[in-house]
Amino acid sequence: MILIGTTNWMRTVQRGEFTCPQCGGLRSYRLRTRRPMMTFYFLPLVPIGPCEWILQCQDCRQNWDPSILRVHHVGIDNLAANMSPSENFQDELLRAMVLMVIDRGRIAEDDIQGLMRIGSELMGRGVHRDELGWICSSAYQNKIPIENYLHSMIGNWTDDQQQVALHYLFLTATIGEDLTDHAAKVLAKYQKMIDLSETEFQEIVEAAVQFDETRES
Ligand SMILES: [Zn+2]
Repeated sequence: MILIGTTNWMRTVQRGEFTCPQCGGLRSYRLRTRRPMMTFYFLPLVPIGPCEWILQCQDCRQNWDPSILRVHHVGIDNLAANMSPSENFQDELLRAMVLMVIDRGRIAEDDIQGLMRIGSELMGRGVHRDELGWICSSAYQNKIPIENYLHSMIGNWTDDQQQVALHYLFLTATIGEDLTDHAAKVLAKYQKMIDLSETEFQEIVEAAVQFDETRES
């Protein structure tokens, strides 16, 4: 019998200091790569997915996307820019939308359907179940919470993109149900992160609600 399995190949590739939003100050971080591997007799031999990068604060142990290094420009060397995945805004936002759904604590068929629909609008192409499945699996294993992911990404996004993101995050947060208190808190934190006034925030949310109603009628 051949024993075949899978494992995550974790490796620390860099250490340094960054401004941790959770701790509110300069902290040590550890940057790690995670690569899913197929194992034969418990030996990881064949990579079965791309390498992913996860940054961990050594104080609060929260995980962040390495893009967080760009937000505060602290402890950064060129490695940080070079190593980042070449994902564009749409890809990054699609992942944030998946994280938003995961954050609600369950993923039902309605959520998948909703994500496929809203995701397709965002991407301007069909977003399929397999693609979402892959992002979900990656997100579960990277263990970067939605708020941390958004915190990490805003440095990559222009003001316009940050606002477009709010539109899609709101639509995602309300798939199949009214906005929960928890999701509302996440959106409020995002509003603070991107420094959006209450009026601007409400305008975007109202436009998203109308957009949703037009589409459903
Ligand atoms: Zn921390």
